Amino acid sequence: MIEMSSVDDLLTVKDLGKTFSDAGRLSFGSSSSGSVRAVDGASFSVKPGETLALVGESGCGKSTLGRLLLRLIQPTDGEVLFEGRDITALGAAEMRMMRARMQMVFQDPYGSLSPRRSIAQIISEPLEVFGLAKSSRERRERVAELLVQVGLSPSFMDRYPRQFSGGQRQRIGIARAISVNPQFIVADEPVSALDVSVQAQIVNLLQDLQAERKFSYLFIAHDLAVVRHIADRVAVMYLGRIVEIGPKKSVYALPQHPYTQALLSAAPEPDPDRKANRIVLQGDVPSPSRVPPGCSFHTRCPIAKDICKVDRPALREVSPNQFSACHFATPNPLTQAG
Ligand code: SF4
Repeated sequence: MIEMSSVDDLLTVKDLGKTFSDAGRLSFGSSSSGSVRAVDGASFSVKPGETLALVGESGCGKSTLGRLLLRLIQPTDGEVLFEGRDITALGAAEMRMMRARMQMVFQDPYGSLSPRRSIAQIISEPLEVFGLAKSSRERRERVAELLVQVGLSPSFMDRYPRQFSGGQRQRIGIARAISVNPQFIVADEPVSALDVSVQAQIVNLLQDLQAERKFSYLFIAHDLAVVRHIADRVAVMYLGRIVEIGPKKSVYALPQHPYTQALLSAAPEPDPDRKANRIVLQGDVPSPSRVPPGCSFHTRCPIAKDICKVDRPALREVSPNQFSACHFATPNPLTQAG
C-alpha cells in the first residue's frame, strides 16, 4: 500500500525497490538465489520544508534508500516522483540538471571531500557545473558567503580538508550541498561520526538552514534522540522494508509496530516520569540473503502469532497519517483524538 500522498508533495516514492545480484557488494534484503533485496516496496512522500527521518538498525537498507532517491544507485523497480516527475526515467543530461535540486550530505565528511582540493575548489565546483557563478571572482564571493552561512570564516577558503576538525569538515560538506540551492537534501547520518559535543551544533545548523531556505530533508539516523529533535515525521525500516511511518509526535508517544516499540524502549527518555520498560529483542537480525517469510520480523517479535510466519503484513493506515506493517497494530488514541 502506498502511504498517503498529495499533489502538494515535493517527493513521492512508489513501490521503490533495489535488488543487488551480488550479495557481497552491499548489505540487506532478501532473495532465494543469493541476490540481495536491499530495499523492498518503499512508498512514502515528503512535503516542501519537511524533515522525514529514516531510522533502523545498521544495515537495514536506509542508506541505500537515500541513494536511490537521488539516483546515485539505479532502482530495480518503482518510481521516485520529484515535483510530479519520475526521475527514474530521466536521461543522463536531465538527471545531471536535476541534481542541482537534490543534494546529499554524507556521514563521513572527510571521505566525501577531496584531500587535494582547497575548500574554495570543493565548494565552487557545483557552482561551476550548474553555471551559478561564471567568473572566478564571482565563485570566490559565493564561496565566502556560503562559508559564513555555515559558521566558518571566509579566510579558510584556501585551506585543505585535513586542516579542519570533523565538525568543520561537515560544515564544508553542508556548504557544498546548499551551494546550488536544492529543494531536497538527503542527510545520511550527518552527525554520527562527530563528537557528541559537536553533534548538536551541526543539527542546529541544519535546522537553521532549513528554516531560512525552506528545503526538505530525508534525515537518515540511528540516534533516536537526534531524530526526536529534528524530525517532523519518522519512518522505520527493518530488513529493507518500511514497517512504520507517521508524525513524530504519535510515533514516539504510541509506536504501533513492535519493532518501533523495541527501538524506542532502548532510546534515552527525556521525561524521567515516562521511563518505558526496555524491550530486549531476542536473536540477531536475520541474514539478508535469508529474510524470513511472512512478516520478516516474526523471528524476533515478542508478540508473533502463527499467521505472522506465513502472511506478510501490508503497510496500512492504523491511525490518521500513521501507518504500520503489523497484523495486530491498533489505532493510536492520540491521533484518534485528533
Ligand atoms: Fe510481530 Fe506479527 Fe506484527 Fe510482524 S505481524 S510485527 S511478527 S505481531
